[in-house]
Amino acid sequence: MTTDKFEKDTRTVHKFIQLYCDNKHKSIDKNTRAIPLRYENENLGEINYNLCEDCEKTLKISCENLLNCPHDEKPSCRKCPAPCYDKTDWKKIAKIMKYSGMQMGLLKIRKLFKRGQG
Ligand SMILES: [Zn+2]
Repeated sequence: MTTDKFEKDTRTVHKFIQLYCDNKHKSIDKNTRAIPLRYENENLGEINYNLCEDCEKTLKISCENLLNCPHDEKPSCRKCPAPCYDKTDWKKIAKIMKYSGMQMGLLKIRKLFKRGQG
């Protein structure tokens, strides 16, 4: 995987998990922390998150899996012939992606709608 792709994917995953945790885990205590982002000795800054413990774990697993992804051209995880998530993690991340993907889609549609009216 290229460094650009790694950084983009990691930041996307974080955005999805953050949105999910913001909306779904409002009443749970959150940790504000940062993960340093490195890929093949290149320093890519860090990811700042504010997540509950469970979502934090999911984010860390996702970052690690991305870092260790054996594919040069990473396929969409859903289509991957050798998924690196175990079943429980996969179910969790699939749920988050589905939820946040829908929320982001709705936001986009709302913006389009507003633009159309304005
Ligand atoms: Zn959470």
